[in-house]
Amino acid sequence: MKFIDALRLKSKLLFLFILITLGLSFIGIVGTLNITSMKKNLDSLYFGSFVTVLELDEILDAYHIHLQTNIYLAKNNIMNSRQTAATIKQAIKKIDKNWNSYKNQYKSNDEIPYINYATKEIEKSKKYLQKLEQICLEGKEVNKISIKTLTSEITHIDEIVSKLRAYEIDSAQFQRKELLDTYYETKIKLGIILFFVIGGVLLISFIVFKSIQKDQSDLEVASRKLKEANRKLENASYTDSLTNLHNRRYFNLVFEREVKRAKRVKNQITFMMLDVDYFKQYNDTYGHIEGDKALKEVARVLKSVLKRPSDFVFRLGGEEFGVLITDVDAQDSATLAQKICTEMEESKIPHSGSKVSDYLTLSIGLVSCIADEALNEEDIIKQADKKLYEAKESGRNRYIMSNGVIG
Ligand code: GH3
Ligand code: MG
Ligand code: MG
Repeated sequence: MKFIDALRLKSKLLFLFILITLGLSFIGIVGTLNITSMKKNLDSLYFGSFVTVLELDEILDAYHIHLQTNIYLAKNNIMNSRQTAATIKQAIKKIDKNWNSYKNQYKSNDEIPYINYATKEIEKSKKYLQKLEQICLEGKEVNKISIKTLTSEITHIDEIVSKLRAYEIDSAQFQRKELLDTYYETKIKLGIILFFVIGGVLLISFIVFKSIQKDQSDLEVASRKLKEANRKLENASYTDSLTNLHNRRYFNLVFEREVKRAKRVKNQITFMMLDVDYFKQYNDTYGHIEGDKALKEVARVLKSVLKRPSDFVFRLGGEEFGVLITDVDAQDSATLAQKICTEMEESKIPHSGSKVSDYLTLSIGLVSCIADEALNEEDIIKQADKKLYEAKESGRNRYIMSNGVIG
């Protein structure tokens, strides 16, 4: 996704955060809406059907158990008639309470005429029951109560109430079906939404993650390139382009540092100043280009003799070179200087203009001493320069070493 790639890291994370929040909010809203609709269904099932059926059951109970049975027992002198009167009173109260509660609940227009009819019939039966209560209370003509009339009254009310009860059960079943339908519908709806939202969030998260990963690797590549470019630039600024040796700039940096280091641990330090013999004549004889090639060859010889990582070889300028070595004593330094002279001559670069050899040669001024507090960097260079001059004066193609006393 190009638009995600174009965002900055912070914006990418913000985008992801917003996306997840939106996804979760969407799921939350849909879930809440569906739960609310299910609650409504549940409410109407509970209060509209379950409670009403219970109330109707209570009414039937009152008619059959409290009234019919007790009056029968009183008539046959099995039960005390006063007690029966109290029971009848209680039963009437119970019927009133449950019927009022039942009929005051929401009723549809279709139900109202039948409810009105039932109310009238229950009122009628109430009057009849109150009469029986009076008889029982007086206790005189209890045995004259007609069980037939009682049974027919109760059967009549039973028919009405049972009809209502059946109707309520039907509607409860219908409501339950609706509730279950909503439940399954919600389950499927939420499942589908969850699948798409989670899938979408995962997919976009993956794209954002990949994009961040790409940014990071781009950044790493750019930083590596920058480091490499810096290293090259630094190398270039410290490297002599003709010979690839360290240049004068680097010499200035390293020489001071190495002398200081040697002074700290009182180490042996060796410095050589080298100069090509009769190089002016070489250029005159073979040309400047050949002269450059010869300088490259000098560099190769120096590098081949001085191989240790701690050996520094510099081109100090023109056909002058410098060598800085630490941890090598005066004797070994002299051997190395001699080796450089020998190897140079043995590389057999013809030099017809030289008065000391048929080949290109070097003269070396060599200083090797233990670095102590009194040692001064400039003095080392001056001393090496002096010894180089002496090497030139005494016949070239040689090294002359300082006697170790500097200053
Ligand atoms: P000596 O033995 O006393 O050192 O004699 P010399 O001729 O080497 O002395 P001098 O210092 O007079 O000459 C150095 C010459 O080196 C002068 C210059 O033409 C040449 N030279 C300096 N730098 C370069 C360079 O980069 N390339 C080439 N080809 N020649 C150079
Ligand atoms: Mg010179
Ligand atoms: Mg020279």
